Amino acid sequence: MDLHSPLTFIKGIGEKKAEVLARNGISNIQDLLYYFPRRYLDRTLTDNILLKQGDSVTLLGKVVDSYLHHGKKTRLVVGFVTQNGERIQLVFFKGAPFFQKQLTKDKTLAVTGRLEYYRGFQIIHPDYEILSAEPGEADTSNLLHVGRIIPLYPSNDSLKKEGMDSRGFRRALSRVLDSNISIPEVLPREVILKNKLLPRQDALKNIHFPDSDEDWQAATRRLKYEELFFFQLLLIHKMNLRREIKRELWPLPHSPSYEKLLKALPFSLTEDQKSAIAKIQSFTAGDEPMACLLQGDVGSGKTLTALSVALHYTDNQIQVVFLAPTEILARQHYQTILGYMGNLPFLNVELLLGGEPKKSRQEKLYRMKMGESMIVVGTHALFQEDIEFRDLGLVIIDEQHKFGVDQREAIRSKGKNPDLLAMTATPIPRTLSLTLYGDLELVIIKNKPAGRQPIDTRWFFDDKKAGIYNSIRKYVTQGRQCYIVYPLVEESEKLDLNSCVEAYENLSRNIFPDLKIGLLHGKMKNNDKTRVMDDFKHNKIQILVTTTVVEVGVDVPNATVLVVEHADRFGLSQLHQLRGRVGRGAHKSFCILITGQNISQDGKERLTALTETEDGFKLSEIDLKIRGPGELLGVRQSGLPEFKLADIQTDEELTKNARIDALDFGKPGLMEREEIKSRFSEGRILFTN
Ligand code: ADP
Ligand code: MG
Repeated sequence: MDLHSPLTFIKGIGEKKAEVLARNGISNIQDLLYYFPRRYLDRTLTDNILLKQGDSVTLLGKVVDSYLHHGKKTRLVVGFVTQNGERIQLVFFKGAPFFQKQLTKDKTLAVTGRLEYYRGFQIIHPDYEILSAEPGEADTSNLLHVGRIIPLYPSNDSLKKEGMDSRGFRRALSRVLDSNISIPEVLPREVILKNKLLPRQDALKNIHFPDSDEDWQAATRRLKYEELFFFQLLLIHKMNLRREIKRELWPLPHSPSYEKLLKALPFSLTEDQKSAIAKIQSFTAGDEPMACLLQGDVGSGKTLTALSVALHYTDNQIQVVFLAPTEILARQHYQTILGYMGNLPFLNVELLLGGEPKKSRQEKLYRMKMGESMIVVGTHALFQEDIEFRDLGLVIIDEQHKFGVDQREAIRSKGKNPDLLAMTATPIPRTLSLTLYGDLELVIIKNKPAGRQPIDTRWFFDDKKAGIYNSIRKYVTQGRQCYIVYPLVEESEKLDLNSCVEAYENLSRNIFPDLKIGLLHGKMKNNDKTRVMDDFKHNKIQILVTTTVVEVGVDVPNATVLVVEHADRFGLSQLHQLRGRVGRGAHKSFCILITGQNISQDGKERLTALTETEDGFKLSEIDLKIRGPGELLGVRQSGLPEFKLADIQTDEELTKNARIDALDFGKPGLMEREEIKSRFSEGRILFTN
């Protein structure tokens, strides 16, 4: 038996079991070994428990009897006696016949749940594991279940039907680990020594059947490291592949158009913008293509930074794509660029969106293919297959977290190994960015342009609306503008949209009949959206009632009041992004968060954090704590693998070390080393991406 043997090599696993296991992603011995316990049951611990009402407990004991109690609601009551002789009732309101059949007298169980008190201790609908066999059945595996620490495995109905419950896994795994299977090491020896890691063989044994807590910890650490190391190696491998293809298009070191832009600007670039531009340019001086992540909080002036970089390309007849996640944003970038550059004769700026009339689309495509359009601003519409460029040398992706890794690659493939400049306002904690964007150079804009006033953020319950409306009126009468944002959640999209439209009608009829109010949401026709946005830009609309379509990027400096309805329904990063719509000009700005009285603890934490700081970095760290990295960035979108054990939040040190080691080993050539090649050729790495 080796790691690649089929599961049927294990005694007790036949074709049928193997088939169900394969459907659950476990196809060979190695898969099984990497199917880790969900929890462990520590018997010594449960022995000493003093039972208290309200405690969450895991208890070991035996079934003594069971009966149906016919009351208002029929329920199954299973009598259960713990190792210490305490009697507890396990109560089931649903599925009584099933549980009655399973939980027969004398079965040994591990029971998990919350301890209630009602004429004695009871647990309602506990989680349980059957540890012993049917009475009378010889159970050779029983020895497995009396060790001090018992692994409990996740399972599901289809697995259980074939006997692969927690107990089934325990049995199969012990058979594998007790055989003299050899588990070859896959980490380089130097790395193991340096990080004091357990050998793979020991780690895999101890993660399943640890003799002590220390055993388990060492095993976990080693296996976490393995995940992180191979993930980093994969990133570095990708980066190397990209670098192997040399640059074909060279941006100019000095751009006349850029010089001109600097002179024409009503302000000067901030120091951070200048140094970001210089740094990005330094990456493009060599013959390797660049991949860079420009990170700067909302309002820090990333657009202008990107445009400055772009002009060094366009001045050399190299095409640039400027990708935005929404049409509103793409349109705004298009106008911004035209606004800054005027209509320069050689800088043909193009806007390409979805749903364009066929003829104008064909014309644009032709100009792009011929290399006449130098900057093409657009949305997802740019991914279409028939879109080609003559000399695409730079891809700029704004709000890059809204795009997936595949999309990043899809657009790059349209160019001649083009440079990549991804931008984001979501400041990503360092470890996370290493994990996520380990293949990107990081450039940070730290400070916003001077003269910005802090945004006054306040949180009110909805019974204070009259006062809020008065304030809005005051600022609007002074010439400022206001956003009122409603949440729009996919699951309740229709309802949400209704409430936004209703609010618009109520506000324009009853509250502000004398003011100019506009409505903007994603379901409107493109022409209408453009018209409303233009009117708002030119202060022909004073109050804009809207949904999250304005979440990212929208730039109207005269808007100084942002009201967010049902603010507790937004995530923290999203609220921070929304807040970035104001505070963009010289006037003092306000962000007003409105909620009902009843909101969750998480909701309270988010809103309080927001009123306390404007620092996007701090906020994203808080968000990371509240929601975890997956939610924060959208796991699937971001290309972040689902690690089985590693947690990039808590395993900061390991992540860093894995990165450093992988950089050492990831150098071209070293990737050819046997241990690493074998790892990759195993065809799958320990994460699902
Ligand atoms: P973000 O980084 O959020 O994309 P933008 O690029 O939209 O920010 O810029 C925000 C606002 O700041 C815009 O109105 C832009 O014109 C302005 N801006 C950019 N750079 C400067 C600067 N150096 N000085 C003053 N204002 C600037
Ligand atoms: Mg922006």
